[in-house]
Amino acid sequence: MKTGTIPQMRTLIAHAGRDPHQNHGVVNPPVYHASTILKPTLAELEESRKPDFDGYRYGRRGTPTSRSFEEAVAALYGADDAIAVSSGLAAICCAILSQVSAGDHILLADNVYFPTRKFAAGFLQRFGVESSYFDPMKPEQLAEHIRPETKVVYLEAPGTMTFEIPDIPKLAEIAHQHNATVIMDNTWATALYFNALEHGVDIVVEAVTKYICGHSDIMMGAIASRTAHAGAIRDMVYMQGNCSGPDDLYLAQRGIRTMAVRLAQNGETALTLAKWLQDRPEVDRVLHPALPSCPGHDLWKRDFTGSSGLFAFVLKPVAKSALAAFLDGLEFYGMGASWGGYESLILPGDPAAARTATKWDEPGQLLRIHAGLEDEADLIADLEAGFERMAALI
Ligand SMILES: *Cc1c(COP(=O)(O)O)cnc(C)c1O
Repeated sequence: MKTGTIPQMRTLIAHAGRDPHQNHGVVNPPVYHASTILKPTLAELEESRKPDFDGYRYGRRGTPTSRSFEEAVAALYGADDAIAVSSGLAAICCAILSQVSAGDHILLADNVYFPTRKFAAGFLQRFGVESSYFDPMKPEQLAEHIRPETKVVYLEAPGTMTFEIPDIPKLAEIAHQHNATVIMDNTWATALYFNALEHGVDIVVEAVTKYICGHSDIMMGAIASRTAHAGAIRDMVYMQGNCSGPDDLYLAQRGIRTMAVRLAQNGETALTLAKWLQDRPEVDRVLHPALPSCPGHDLWKRDFTGSSGLFAFVLKPVAKSALAAFLDGLEFYGMGASWGGYESLILPGDPAAARTATKWDEPGQLLRIHAGLEDEADLIADLEAGFERMAALI
């Protein structure tokens, strides 16, 4: 891009990280399959071994294909650097590992993605890094949980499965007063709806698997940060031997180009479904940041610029057979992990099993919906037929 001004988000989404005239005018960046990268002379080989060399030296350490994707992600976040890794979970683990050593402590919001908790308990613990949990909706209590050895405050917003929105700038401010690095999982909003780095977050991680990819067919993660943390993150990713395949990187950069239109539709459909569910007698609560009944709704309005396609609702208690009747006959909602694609999904969840600092004591079943790009009327009719099957069994 040649203009002197910083382009608006949708323009960045279309153009960042691409340079067609470096590649015969072809619109999309080419796919480089590479392990060995040859240097023609001893001098150039030696140059490529210097720590600050920023060309290409080995497939695992980056190719024009990975760089093109990473430049686009960095531009969307206004970050100094972004790095692609093999999955969203790898992004979380590498980001945390880049900041801690044996004897340190990390503090995690109680509503984080469950595998993040498993990594803290099953991996960090073994190498002498302690972890504990806090209620992200009570920022006034954060300071009490911070220890002298706390190096990271880790957030996810909205909360996994439960969708509350915490006061991220306030939590970040308190963490920074205690010299802790703030890492945030921003998979739900993406850079499009929440620029974490502009709200006090130091390192943002995203499961590219979800919205950036958008088609449920690759696994990838990204970590974006400012210069202060970028070197440590890149070093950790290299030391872990973590890298992504060229075809997946290509699909991920292609996914970026349609994010704005896809997420607008995912978001609009999700809100339509959420409002419809809110009025159903079978439903106890709807958990969607853009609805006033959601904890942190005002903070969502203050800090976020949109809502994506994932939300949840809680059924009034019913027998398992009635729940199965509702779910088993759904025509357009697939049942399975992950989300962010063009297709709708539904998944039962149990937040109580993954909380230690807060309580989830809703008696009914929580169901998480991902709104895809199907026609809203069909998605509503499908749920309505499900409620009828359920009613027949009550
Ligand atoms: C799916 C997900 C991840 C992990 O991404 P993978 O690519 O599946 O490893 C991390 N955080 C959130 C919020 C997710 O939904």
